[in-house]
Amino acid sequence: MNFCPQCQSDKIVKSGVINSRQRYKCKSCNYFFTVNKLGKKIDQYYVTKALQLYLEGLTYREIERILGVSHVSVMNWVRKYNIHKVQNTGFHPTYKILNQTELEQFFSSSENTKGSGMIVTELGDKFMMIKWERFKE
Ligand SMILES: [Zn+2]
Repeated sequence: MNFCPQCQSDKIVKSGVINSRQRYKCKSCNYFFTVNKLGKKIDQYYVTKALQLYLEGLTYREIERILGVSHVSVMNWVRKYNIHKVQNTGFHPTYKILNQTELEQFFSSSENTKGSGMIVTELGDKFMMIKWERFKE
């Protein structure tokens, strides 16, 4: 199966021939491309991580920076999987990228773990810790 190089959608249609190369159009993002540029499918791992981070309150740009996938892709996945962020005003997430040792050091101090919720998720060879803190009055 083929995928749009810009947004990884599989909703592509043939759209004429340019310089004797088949041209395609992506119906999701309206991007035109030739067969040479056909995208490789992005690992489902990154799709899952991106949606996880989106639900945690990170912006598209932040997710792009962290995962190295285009924010356009993330926007398309959010639409494709019909993900709705929960409205939240009382907490804000911060995140850190840590290696194994840094993670251990972080958790060894109760100052770091008191009064906030956290999740740790694998991110390549490191870990990402998302921490929720109440807005200070
Ligand atoms: Zn596309």
